[in-house]
Amino acid sequence: MLESSCMRLLRAGDSSGFCFNHKCFEALFCFRHMLADVKPNSVTFIAALAACAATGSLRYGKEIHAHVLRRGLASEGYVPNALLDLYVKCGHTGYAWAQFSAHGEKDVVSWNIMLAGFVAHGHGDIALSFFNEMLETGEHPDEVTFVALLCGCSRAGMVSQGWELFHRMTEEYSIVPNLKHYACMVDLLSRVGRLTQAYDFINRMPITPDAAVWGALLNGCRIHRHTELGELAAKFVLELEPNDAGYHVLLSDLYADAGKWAEVARVRKTMREKGLEQDYGCSWVEVKGDIHAFLTGDESHPQIKEINAVLHSIYERMKASGFDPIESYSLEDKEVSKDDVLCGHSERLAVAFGLINTTPGTSIFVTKNQYTCQSCHGILSMISKIVRREIIVRDTKEFHHFRDGSCSCGGSG
Ligand SMILES: [Zn+2]
Ligand SMILES: [Zn+2]
Repeated sequence: MLESSCMRLLRAGDSSGFCFNHKCFEALFCFRHMLADVKPNSVTFIAALAACAATGSLRYGKEIHAHVLRRGLASEGYVPNALLDLYVKCGHTGYAWAQFSAHGEKDVVSWNIMLAGFVAHGHGDIALSFFNEMLETGEHPDEVTFVALLCGCSRAGMVSQGWELFHRMTEEYSIVPNLKHYACMVDLLSRVGRLTQAYDFINRMPITPDAAVWGALLNGCRIHRHTELGELAAKFVLELEPNDAGYHVLLSDLYADAGKWAEVARVRKTMREKGLEQDYGCSWVEVKGDIHAFLTGDESHPQIKEINAVLHSIYERMKASGFDPIESYSLEDKEVSKDDVLCGHSERLAVAFGLINTTPGTSIFVTKNQYTCQSCHGILSMISKIVRREIIVRDTKEFHHFRDGSCSCGGSG
Protein backbone atom coordinates (compact mmCIF):
# COMPACT_ATOMS: atom_id res chain seq x y z
CA MET A 1 0.00 0.00 0.00
CA LEU A 2 2.70 2.40 1.06
CA GLU A 3 4.86 1.28 -1.84
CA SER A 4 2.17 1.88 -4.43
CA SER A 5 1.20 5.29 -3.09
CA CYS A 6 4.88 6.19 -2.89
CA MET A 7 5.47 5.22 -6.51
CA ARG A 8 2.44 7.21 -7.54
CA LEU A 9 3.94 10.22 -5.83
CA LEU A 10 7.40 9.64 -7.24
CA ARG A 11 6.01 9.52 -10.74
CA ALA A 12 3.76 12.46 -10.07
CA GLY A 13 3.38 15.02 -12.73
CA ASP A 14 5.56 16.48 -15.40
CA SER A 15 4.36 19.92 -14.43
CA SER A 16 6.78 22.55 -13.27
CA GLY A 17 6.98 24.98 -10.41
CA PHE A 18 5.77 24.83 -6.89
CA CYS A 19 3.28 21.97 -7.20
CA PHE A 20 5.76 19.69 -8.88
CA ASN A 21 8.45 20.40 -6.33
CA HIS A 22 5.98 20.03 -3.52
CA LYS A 23 5.00 16.60 -4.82
CA CYS A 24 8.66 15.66 -5.04
CA PHE A 25 9.23 16.49 -1.37
CA GLU A 26 6.14 14.56 -0.38
CA ALA A 27 7.40 11.63 -2.43
CA LEU A 28 10.84 11.73 -0.84
CA PHE A 29 9.37 11.84 2.62
CA CYS A 30 7.23 8.84 1.76
CA PHE A 31 10.22 7.06 0.25
CA ARG A 32 12.22 7.37 3.46
CA HIS A 33 9.42 5.61 5.35
CA MET A 34 9.17 2.99 2.70
CA LEU A 35 12.85 2.07 3.04
CA ALA A 36 12.19 0.81 6.56
CA ASP A 37 9.40 -1.56 5.52
CA VAL A 38 9.97 -2.86 2.04
CA LYS A 39 12.82 -3.44 -0.36
CA PRO A 40 12.54 -0.93 -3.20
CA ASN A 41 13.75 -2.07 -6.61
CA SER A 42 15.88 -0.14 -9.06
CA VAL A 43 12.82 1.49 -10.66
CA THR A 44 11.78 2.97 -7.32
CA PHE A 45 15.33 4.18 -6.67
CA ILE A 46 15.47 5.81 -10.11
CA ALA A 47 12.21 7.66 -9.44
CA ALA A 48 13.44 8.78 -6.02
CA LEU A 49 16.76 9.98 -7.48
CA ALA A 50 14.84 11.92 -10.15
CA ALA A 51 12.78 13.61 -7.43
CA CYS A 52 16.01 14.59 -5.63
CA ALA A 53 17.51 15.91 -8.87
CA ALA A 54 14.39 17.96 -9.59
CA THR A 55 14.44 19.59 -6.17
CA GLY A 56 18.21 19.85 -5.83
CA SER A 57 18.09 17.75 -2.65
CA LEU A 58 21.67 16.60 -2.48
CA ARG A 59 21.51 15.16 0.99
CA TYR A 60 18.46 12.99 0.29
CA GLY A 61 20.10 12.04 -2.96
CA LYS A 62 23.30 10.92 -1.26
CA GLU A 63 21.25 8.95 1.24
CA ILE A 64 19.54 7.15 -1.60
CA HIS A 65 22.89 6.64 -3.33
CA ALA A 66 24.14 4.87 -0.18
CA HIS A 67 21.08 2.57 -0.18
CA VAL A 68 21.63 1.85 -3.86
CA LEU A 69 25.21 0.79 -3.16
CA ARG A 70 24.18 -1.31 -0.17
CA ARG A 71 21.69 -3.20 -2.28
CA GLY A 72 24.12 -3.69 -5.14
CA LEU A 73 21.98 -1.81 -7.64
CA ALA A 74 24.54 0.84 -8.64
CA SER A 75 25.00 -0.49 -12.17
CA GLU A 76 21.45 -1.70 -12.67
CA GLY A 77 19.65 -0.34 -15.75
CA TYR A 78 19.23 3.42 -15.69
CA VAL A 79 20.52 3.77 -12.09
CA PRO A 80 24.05 5.02 -13.08
CA ASN A 81 22.53 7.76 -15.25
CA ALA A 82 20.00 8.71 -12.56
CA LEU A 83 22.96 9.19 -10.18
CA LEU A 84 24.83 11.27 -12.77
CA ASP A 85 21.76 13.42 -13.30
CA LEU A 86 21.37 13.89 -9.55
CA TYR A 87 24.92 15.19 -9.06
CA VAL A 88 24.84 17.39 -12.16
CA LYS A 89 21.50 18.97 -11.20
CA CYS A 90 22.61 19.49 -7.60
CA GLY A 91 25.59 21.42 -8.87
CA HIS A 92 28.17 18.85 -7.77
CA THR A 93 30.05 18.41 -11.02
CA GLY A 94 32.97 16.86 -9.14
CA TYR A 95 30.76 14.01 -7.90
CA ALA A 96 29.16 13.74 -11.32
CA TRP A 97 32.57 13.49 -12.93
CA ALA A 98 33.68 10.80 -10.47
CA GLN A 99 30.45 8.93 -11.11
CA PHE A 100 30.89 9.28 -14.86
CA SER A 101 34.51 8.11 -14.82
CA ALA A 102 33.84 5.23 -12.42
CA HIS A 103 30.97 3.84 -14.40
CA GLY A 104 32.36 1.55 -17.07
CA GLU A 105 29.54 1.32 -19.57
CA LYS A 106 28.48 4.74 -20.66
CA ASP A 107 25.73 5.27 -23.15
CA VAL A 108 24.68 8.31 -25.11
CA VAL A 109 22.38 9.33 -22.23
CA SER A 110 25.34 9.47 -19.81
CA TRP A 111 27.27 11.71 -22.21
CA ASN A 112 24.20 13.90 -22.74
CA ILE A 113 23.66 14.40 -19.01
CA MET A 114 27.27 15.54 -18.61
CA LEU A 115 27.05 17.79 -21.68
CA ALA A 116 23.84 19.45 -20.45
CA GLY A 117 25.55 19.88 -17.07
CA PHE A 118 28.52 21.74 -18.57
CA VAL A 119 26.15 23.97 -20.54
CA ALA A 120 23.98 24.73 -17.50
CA HIS A 121 27.13 25.73 -15.61
CA GLY A 122 28.07 28.11 -18.41
CA HIS A 123 30.95 26.02 -19.80
CA GLY A 124 30.04 25.95 -23.49
CA ASP A 125 33.72 25.54 -24.43
CA ILE A 126 34.19 22.52 -22.15
CA ALA A 127 30.97 21.03 -23.57
CA LEU A 128 32.47 21.24 -27.05
CA SER A 129 35.71 19.51 -26.13
CA PHE A 130 33.75 16.94 -24.14
CA PHE A 131 31.70 16.31 -27.28
CA ASN A 132 34.90 15.62 -29.24
CA GLU A 133 35.97 13.19 -26.56
CA MET A 134 32.59 11.50 -26.87
CA LEU A 135 33.12 11.05 -30.61
CA GLU A 136 36.61 9.65 -30.05
CA THR A 137 35.18 6.88 -27.87
CA GLY A 138 32.92 5.92 -30.79
CA GLU A 139 29.69 7.04 -29.13
CA HIS A 140 27.04 8.30 -31.57
CA PRO A 141 25.44 11.61 -30.68
CA ASP A 142 21.65 11.87 -30.82
CA GLU A 143 19.20 14.76 -31.06
CA VAL A 144 19.48 15.49 -27.33
CA THR A 145 23.26 15.82 -27.67
CA PHE A 146 22.81 18.56 -30.25
CA VAL A 147 20.18 20.43 -28.25
CA ALA A 148 22.73 20.68 -25.40
CA LEU A 149 25.56 21.70 -27.74
CA LEU A 150 23.56 24.33 -29.63
CA CYS A 151 22.26 25.74 -26.36
CA GLY A 152 25.87 25.94 -25.11
CA CYS A 153 26.97 27.76 -28.27
CA SER A 154 24.07 30.18 -27.98
CA ARG A 155 24.85 31.09 -24.37
CA ALA A 156 28.53 31.51 -25.11
CA GLY A 157 27.87 33.52 -28.30
CA MET A 158 29.74 30.95 -30.41
CA VAL A 159 27.89 31.57 -33.66
CA SER A 160 30.19 29.87 -36.16
CA GLN A 161 30.57 26.77 -33.98
CA GLY A 162 26.78 26.65 -33.64
CA TRP A 163 26.25 26.75 -37.38
CA GLU A 164 28.90 24.11 -37.93
CA LEU A 165 27.24 21.78 -35.41
CA PHE A 166 23.82 22.37 -36.92
CA HIS A 167 25.12 21.33 -40.33
CA ARG A 168 27.08 18.37 -39.00
CA MET A 169 23.98 17.19 -37.18
CA THR A 170 21.96 16.98 -40.38
CA GLU A 171 24.68 16.01 -42.84
CA GLU A 172 27.00 13.78 -40.85
CA TYR A 173 24.55 12.24 -38.41
CA SER A 174 21.31 12.44 -40.44
CA ILE A 175 19.39 13.90 -37.51
CA VAL A 176 16.30 15.81 -38.56
CA PRO A 177 16.26 19.08 -36.59
CA ASN A 178 13.31 19.40 -34.21
CA LEU A 179 11.73 22.53 -32.71
CA LYS A 180 14.28 22.63 -29.90
CA HIS A 181 17.19 22.72 -32.36
CA TYR A 182 15.50 25.51 -34.31
CA ALA A 183 14.80 27.49 -31.16
CA CYS A 184 18.48 27.19 -30.17
CA MET A 185 19.59 28.43 -33.60
CA VAL A 186 17.20 31.39 -33.52
CA ASP A 187 18.43 32.18 -30.03
CA LEU A 188 22.05 31.93 -31.18
CA LEU A 189 21.48 34.40 -34.04
CA SER A 190 19.16 36.74 -32.14
CA ARG A 191 21.40 37.14 -29.10
CA VAL A 192 24.27 38.41 -31.22
CA GLY A 193 21.95 40.80 -33.07
CA ARG A 194 21.57 38.96 -36.37
CA LEU A 195 17.82 39.52 -36.20
CA THR A 196 16.96 39.61 -39.89
CA GLN A 197 18.96 36.45 -40.43
CA ALA A 198 17.09 34.83 -37.54
CA TYR A 199 13.76 35.89 -39.02
CA ASP A 200 14.71 34.50 -42.45
CA PHE A 201 15.84 31.31 -40.75
CA ILE A 202 12.39 30.95 -39.12
CA ASN A 203 10.64 31.56 -42.43
CA ARG A 204 12.68 28.81 -44.06
CA MET A 205 11.91 26.24 -41.36
CA PRO A 206 10.31 23.11 -42.81
CA ILE A 207 8.17 22.70 -39.65
CA THR A 208 5.79 25.19 -38.05
CA PRO A 209 7.69 27.27 -35.49
CA ASP A 210 6.42 27.11 -31.90
CA ALA A 211 6.34 29.78 -29.19
CA ALA A 212 9.91 28.99 -28.09
CA VAL A 213 11.24 29.74 -31.59
CA TRP A 214 9.39 33.06 -31.86
CA GLY A 215 10.18 33.78 -28.21
CA ALA A 216 13.91 33.50 -28.94
CA LEU A 217 13.52 36.10 -31.70
CA LEU A 218 11.44 38.33 -29.41
CA ASN A 219 14.13 38.16 -26.76
CA GLY A 220 16.81 39.10 -29.30
CA CYS A 221 14.68 42.03 -30.48
CA ARG A 222 14.38 43.20 -26.88
CA ILE A 223 18.15 42.98 -26.32
CA HIS A 224 18.92 44.84 -29.54
CA ARG A 225 15.91 47.17 -29.37
CA HIS A 226 14.31 46.20 -32.66
CA THR A 227 10.69 47.08 -31.84
CA GLU A 228 9.12 46.38 -35.22
CA LEU A 229 10.40 42.84 -35.62
CA GLY A 230 9.85 42.26 -31.90
CA GLU A 231 6.17 43.14 -32.24
CA LEU A 232 5.84 40.71 -35.09
CA ALA A 233 7.52 37.94 -33.09
CA ALA A 234 5.32 38.75 -30.10
CA LYS A 235 2.18 38.45 -32.22
CA PHE A 236 3.09 34.87 -33.09
CA VAL A 237 4.25 34.03 -29.56
CA LEU A 238 1.09 35.29 -27.89
CA GLU A 239 -1.15 33.55 -30.39
CA LEU A 240 0.54 30.30 -29.41
CA GLU A 241 0.95 30.98 -25.67
CA PRO A 242 -1.70 33.55 -24.76
CA ASN A 243 -1.32 33.01 -21.01
CA ASP A 244 2.44 32.96 -20.56
CA ALA A 245 3.57 35.68 -18.13
CA GLY A 246 7.18 35.58 -19.32
CA TYR A 247 6.36 36.40 -22.94
CA HIS A 248 4.04 39.25 -21.92
CA VAL A 249 6.82 40.71 -19.80
CA LEU A 250 9.29 40.38 -22.68
CA LEU A 251 6.93 42.36 -24.91
CA SER A 252 6.37 44.97 -22.23
CA ASP A 253 10.15 45.34 -21.82
CA LEU A 254 10.57 45.72 -25.55
CA TYR A 255 8.15 48.66 -25.44
CA ALA A 256 9.67 50.11 -22.27
CA ASP A 257 13.13 50.15 -23.86
CA ALA A 258 11.66 51.96 -26.87
CA GLY A 259 9.87 54.47 -24.64
CA LYS A 260 6.42 53.39 -25.85
CA TRP A 261 4.71 53.81 -22.50
CA ALA A 262 1.14 53.57 -23.77
CA GLU A 263 1.98 50.18 -25.22
CA VAL A 264 3.62 49.11 -21.96
CA ALA A 265 0.46 50.07 -20.08
CA ARG A 266 -1.67 48.11 -22.56
CA VAL A 267 0.37 44.92 -22.09
CA ARG A 268 0.29 45.37 -18.30
CA LYS A 269 -3.47 45.78 -18.39
CA THR A 270 -3.85 42.57 -20.37
CA MET A 271 -1.64 40.79 -17.85
CA ARG A 272 -3.74 42.00 -14.95
CA GLU A 273 -6.95 40.98 -16.70
CA LYS A 274 -5.55 37.53 -17.34
CA GLY A 275 -4.32 37.25 -13.75
CA LEU A 276 -0.74 36.66 -14.90
CA GLU A 277 0.87 38.68 -12.14
CA GLN A 278 0.05 36.25 -9.36
CA ASP A 279 2.55 33.65 -10.36
CA TYR A 280 4.43 33.21 -7.10
CA GLY A 281 7.94 31.95 -6.98
CA CYS A 282 9.52 29.60 -4.52
CA SER A 283 13.08 28.80 -3.42
CA TRP A 284 14.40 25.85 -1.46
CA VAL A 285 17.44 25.45 0.69
CA GLU A 286 18.69 22.32 2.43
CA VAL A 287 19.87 22.88 5.99
CA LYS A 288 21.01 20.01 8.20
CA GLY A 289 19.14 17.51 6.06
CA ASP A 290 15.84 19.33 6.10
CA ILE A 291 14.43 21.25 3.19
CA HIS A 292 13.07 24.72 3.83
CA ALA A 293 10.87 26.37 1.24
CA PHE A 294 10.31 30.11 0.88
CA LEU A 295 7.51 31.59 -1.16
CA THR A 296 7.76 35.07 -2.65
CA GLY A 297 6.90 37.66 -0.02
CA ASP A 298 6.48 34.97 2.64
CA GLU A 299 6.29 36.64 6.03
CA SER A 300 5.05 33.61 7.94
CA HIS A 301 8.38 31.85 8.54
CA PRO A 302 9.25 31.54 12.27
CA GLN A 303 12.69 33.08 11.61
CA ILE A 304 11.44 35.85 9.31
CA LYS A 305 12.63 38.63 11.63
CA GLU A 306 16.19 37.32 11.66
CA ILE A 307 16.07 36.74 7.90
CA ASN A 308 14.92 40.30 7.24
CA ALA A 309 17.53 41.66 9.63
CA VAL A 310 20.31 39.84 7.75
CA LEU A 311 19.02 41.10 4.40
CA HIS A 312 18.59 44.60 5.73
CA SER A 313 22.17 44.81 6.94
CA ILE A 314 23.37 43.60 3.54
CA TYR A 315 21.23 46.22 1.75
CA GLU A 316 22.69 48.90 4.01
CA ARG A 317 26.23 47.85 3.18
CA MET A 318 25.40 47.80 -0.50
CA LYS A 319 23.85 51.26 -0.38
CA ALA A 320 26.94 52.54 1.41
CA SER A 321 29.02 51.34 -1.51
CA GLY A 322 26.74 53.08 -4.01
CA PHE A 323 24.59 50.19 -5.20
CA ASP A 324 20.84 50.39 -4.70
CA PRO A 325 19.70 46.82 -4.13
CA ILE A 326 15.97 47.43 -4.19
CA GLU A 327 15.84 49.42 -7.39
CA SER A 328 13.37 48.09 -9.87
CA TYR A 329 12.12 49.84 -12.91
CA SER A 330 8.43 49.80 -12.11
CA LEU A 331 6.42 52.38 -14.00
CA GLU A 332 4.20 53.49 -11.20
CA ASP A 333 4.37 52.70 -7.53
CA LYS A 334 1.54 50.23 -7.78
CA GLU A 335 2.97 48.46 -10.79
CA VAL A 336 4.58 45.10 -10.32
CA SER A 337 7.97 45.12 -12.00
CA LYS A 338 9.26 42.55 -14.42
CA ASP A 339 11.60 41.28 -11.73
CA ASP A 340 8.77 40.82 -9.26
CA VAL A 341 6.82 38.78 -11.77
CA LEU A 342 9.63 36.69 -13.18
CA CYS A 343 12.00 36.43 -10.23
CA GLY A 344 9.92 36.86 -7.11
CA HIS A 345 13.21 37.32 -5.18
CA SER A 346 12.40 34.31 -2.98
CA GLU A 347 16.04 33.15 -3.15
CA ARG A 348 17.06 36.10 -0.97
CA LEU A 349 15.00 34.64 1.89
CA ALA A 350 16.38 31.15 1.32
CA VAL A 351 19.99 32.38 1.23
CA ALA A 352 19.56 34.50 4.37
CA PHE A 353 18.00 31.53 6.15
CA GLY A 354 20.94 29.40 5.05
CA LEU A 355 23.40 31.98 6.37
CA ILE A 356 21.74 32.04 9.78
CA ASN A 357 21.45 28.29 10.17
CA THR A 358 24.68 26.87 8.77
CA THR A 359 28.30 26.92 9.86
CA PRO A 360 30.36 29.88 8.62
CA GLY A 361 32.47 28.93 5.63
CA THR A 362 30.14 26.26 4.30
CA SER A 363 28.50 26.78 0.94
CA ILE A 364 24.78 27.35 0.46
CA PHE A 365 22.80 25.69 -2.28
CA VAL A 366 19.43 27.10 -3.29
CA THR A 367 17.02 25.87 -5.95
CA LYS A 368 14.29 28.12 -7.32
CA ASN A 369 11.39 27.74 -9.73
CA GLN A 370 11.87 31.06 -11.54
CA TYR A 371 14.70 32.97 -13.10
CA THR A 372 17.13 35.12 -11.10
CA CYS A 373 16.74 38.86 -11.66
CA GLN A 374 19.66 41.26 -11.97
CA SER A 375 18.96 42.82 -8.62
CA CYS A 376 18.99 39.48 -6.77
CA HIS A 377 22.07 38.55 -8.78
CA GLY A 378 23.85 41.64 -7.51
CA ILE A 379 22.77 41.02 -3.94
CA LEU A 380 23.92 37.40 -3.96
CA SER A 381 27.28 38.40 -5.45
CA MET A 382 27.70 40.93 -2.68
CA ILE A 383 26.67 38.46 0.04
CA SER A 384 29.24 35.94 -1.22
CA LYS A 385 31.89 38.62 -0.85
CA ILE A 386 30.79 39.94 2.54
CA VAL A 387 30.35 36.58 4.26
CA ARG A 388 33.06 34.82 2.24
CA ARG A 389 30.86 31.92 1.38
CA GLU A 390 30.10 30.16 -1.85
CA ILE A 391 26.44 30.51 -2.83
CA ILE A 392 25.03 28.33 -5.55
CA VAL A 393 21.63 29.11 -7.03
CA ARG A 394 20.00 26.82 -9.53
CA ASP A 395 17.23 28.68 -11.33
CA THR A 396 15.09 27.59 -14.25
CA LYS A 397 17.80 28.51 -16.72
CA GLU A 398 21.19 27.78 -15.25
CA PHE A 399 23.50 27.52 -12.27
CA HIS A 400 25.00 30.57 -10.60
CA HIS A 401 28.11 29.99 -8.51
CA PHE A 402 28.69 33.14 -6.51
CA ARG A 403 32.14 33.42 -5.03
CA ASP A 404 33.98 36.45 -3.70
CA GLY A 405 31.68 38.95 -5.36
CA SER A 406 31.32 37.44 -8.81
CA CYS A 407 29.33 34.76 -10.54
CA SER A 408 30.27 31.87 -12.80
CA CYS A 409 27.64 32.91 -15.36
CA GLY A 410 29.50 36.14 -15.99
CA GLY A 411 26.28 38.05 -15.30
CA SER A 412 26.40 41.56 -13.95
CA GLY A 413 26.07 42.56 -10.36
ZN1 LIG B 1 14.96 38.91 -7.82
ZN1 LIG C 1 25.04 34.28 -12.28
